[in-house]
Amino acid sequence: MSVLKIKNPANNNTLYEIEIKQSLNIDEIYKKAHNTFEITKENPLEKRIEALANLQEYILINKEKIIDRIVAETGKSKTDALTSEILSVLDAIDYYKKNSVAILADQNVKTPLLLMGKKSKIYYEPLGTILIISPWNYPFYQAIVPIISAYVTGNTVIYKPSELTPLKCLLEEAFEQTGFIKDSIQIVYGDKETGSKLVEAKPDKIFFTGSVRAGKEIMQIAAKNLTPLDLELGGKDVMIVFDDVNIERTVNGALWGSLTNSGQSCTSVEKIFVHEEIYSRFVTKLEEKINKLTSIENNQDNGDIDIGLMTAEFQIKKIEEQIEDALAKGAKIICGGFRKNNSMYFSPTLIVNIKPEMLIYHEETFGPIVAVAKFDNESQVINLANDSEYGLSASVWSKDLVRADRVARKLRVGNVSINNVMITEGNTALPFGGIKSSGFGRYKGEHGLHSFSNIKSIVIDTQSSKVEANWYPYSTKKYSMFLKVIDSLFSNKSSLIKTAINGLKLEKISDKEKI
Ligand code: NAD
Repeated sequence: MSVLKIKNPANNNTLYEIEIKQSLNIDEIYKKAHNTFEITKENPLEKRIEALANLQEYILINKEKIIDRIVAETGKSKTDALTSEILSVLDAIDYYKKNSVAILADQNVKTPLLLMGKKSKIYYEPLGTILIISPWNYPFYQAIVPIISAYVTGNTVIYKPSELTPLKCLLEEAFEQTGFIKDSIQIVYGDKETGSKLVEAKPDKIFFTGSVRAGKEIMQIAAKNLTPLDLELGGKDVMIVFDDVNIERTVNGALWGSLTNSGQSCTSVEKIFVHEEIYSRFVTKLEEKINKLTSIENNQDNGDIDIGLMTAEFQIKKIEEQIEDALAKGAKIICGGFRKNNSMYFSPTLIVNIKPEMLIYHEETFGPIVAVAKFDNESQVINLANDSEYGLSASVWSKDLVRADRVARKLRVGNVSINNVMITEGNTALPFGGIKSSGFGRYKGEHGLHSFSNIKSIVIDTQSSKVEANWYPYSTKKYSMFLKVIDSLFSNKSSLIKTAINGLKLEKISDKEKI
């Protein structure tokens, strides 16, 4: 048995411990999930939505308590917790409450002329047991949003939170008190070995959010079992700033995008490309404004702290390494760049002149760093932006919306904000996900709910004595009539009337030639 010590980044005190039993009975957990699936799949959608509504109310009532738990385990600022975790979760629940009936309703689909007389439909059914594994940076949001997406589509869930910020018992209490079916959401605490065992045990789908490294390991196991999976992995998001922007607003956007959650967000701005015409004015403004931000260091957070703490020691080491490497290769720090008194507070850092040979240019940073580089024309900056292993999101800033749209279309990413930052995530109706090493699959919005469904195609025909023309027996007569149908349907001289006549003739032949 090993023990996880959950630490408060503010003082390094142990908040609580979790024992990980080596004998954790994974089979038992899955058996319970599969048995409960027999109930959840029959639980009407209206009931599932009712549970979501109760959960929304519960979160509204308990928001301060939840924020305190999130802050204690992550060290983030209270406003970061309020807006990016509580508000975003409430909004996601609202979207599902209002839209899941329409999204999951049976759908009528056009039936082509060739299949005359039949009806086509799509049914959205649950898949079974969904394994959700989450990281430490948004422990409430990254738990609730995938869990409710899976639950509202009728699945059962096995959820493994991060070993750094598990929010122990918080979610269990919330689901228990809001009418979620007992055992429909099981929470399994543990580290990556626990995660790996859960992946091995053949869930019906895996929804993973985390690092590229872990994503690859999980995919290897999933491949052995042909378990479908969505991977929401890392990012190296760029912000492209053209020379016609409102500098004040754009600098404010750049600071928030780079520093929110102390930069520990998969979609935080990691690299800002500024047009050379406004580069020095932009950097001066960044410096002026970054120095006005309030930090958690020596301050009580009454909702007025801009920059919180880092959550993980290894993350601090990583940004220190990137900064050291960048400085050695010619980058310049305008302000910040260091950890205060061995604490988890890393000063917000403005670093300029970053170049492709530096680690900070290509690797995910995940820290409170505003990193800036110059560009001189549109096609160059598109190439610079696309020269990345990652493809999560990006932002394009310009008064010229035609140009901004043109650039947005050329960026090899899953999400683009125009004249805003990290805003696509703010709309639950939009699917979220990446390409390249940022992963694949989409969650949220219509696409997201469908991704937790078995998308079942149905064709309904009537009972009659007729046989289909393409059924046995084959004959030369049928064959030549088929050729005519194909020509009348698809050739340059295609005609509906001809197709109908040829189709009727083909039907007649088939009726005559039955076996
Ligand atoms: P991580 O990959 O180390 O861990 C994430 C989760 O996976 C944890 O619960 C961990 O216990 C588990 N895990 C790790 N290895 C595993 C394995 N081999 N098998 C099964 N489970 C395993 O990532 P992290 O450090 O917690 O999170 C930071 C990363 O997450 C960053 O790269 C960040 O960009 C990414 N992230 C992505 C998104 C997104 O939506 N794309 C959102 C948030 C964070």
